[in-house]
Amino acid sequence: MKLTKRQEEIIEIVKKSGPITGKQIADKLSLTRAALRPDLAILTMAGNLEARPRVGYYFNENYEMKLQAKKFTNQKVVDYKAHPIVIQKSSSVYDAIVQLFLEDVGTLYAVDEKGHLAGVISRKDLLRSALGNRNLDDLPVSVIMTRMPNIVMIKPEETLLEAAKKMIENHIDSLPVVKETDEYPHTYMVIGRITKTTITRAYLEITEQ
Ligand code: ADP
Repeated sequence: MKLTKRQEEIIEIVKKSGPITGKQIADKLSLTRAALRPDLAILTMAGNLEARPRVGYYFNENYEMKLQAKKFTNQKVVDYKAHPIVIQKSSSVYDAIVQLFLEDVGTLYAVDEKGHLAGVISRKDLLRSALGNRNLDDLPVSVIMTRMPNIVMIKPEETLLEAAKKMIENHIDSLPVVKETDEYPHTYMVIGRITKTTITRAYLEITEQ
């Protein structure tokens, strides 16, 4: 619901001074109680304010939180995705580790010669491969990566809520944002990434608005 300027003023007063009576609010706005009645009725019905007989109006904290949560869950992946860091699947594990540090990310996406998504390489994948003391220069990332069709992906038109669910349900830190190509069998181009940090940042942005 779009609030009028006066309704916003009323909410501010109740936030600051609630519980407060209708008469006291009217006095603060230099209005009559009667002139204020429709706005108070609207705000109470919409859930912004709560009214208690003989006590006055309270600000409804839950309402604001619900609004913010709703705003958050409706945000689209396309508006929050970050730049994906990709690497050729034939690259060595050593190069992948260097890339991870240079780009300051936790996950790399491996692509094939056509630029199609082939795998995901996380920090733990790289650490695990280094444990065996193998020659990391000679070991291609394609050997250690999580491969298609096991990659959990997200499309740009999906919501941040869907992204958050996919990450939590699959115990992973990031999702490649993909666009399907026209080819068959299905292949995907990586056009972005969503990480747990993306979700946290979006949440902060929305709550601070
Ligand atoms: P870390 O390894 O740093 O804990 P993750 O929790 O993201 O990072 O990765 C855990 C495992 O899940 C790794 O083996 C990784 O290859 C795999 N993985 C990461 N992201 C995805 C994804 N989007 N789809 C499928 N597997 C993934």
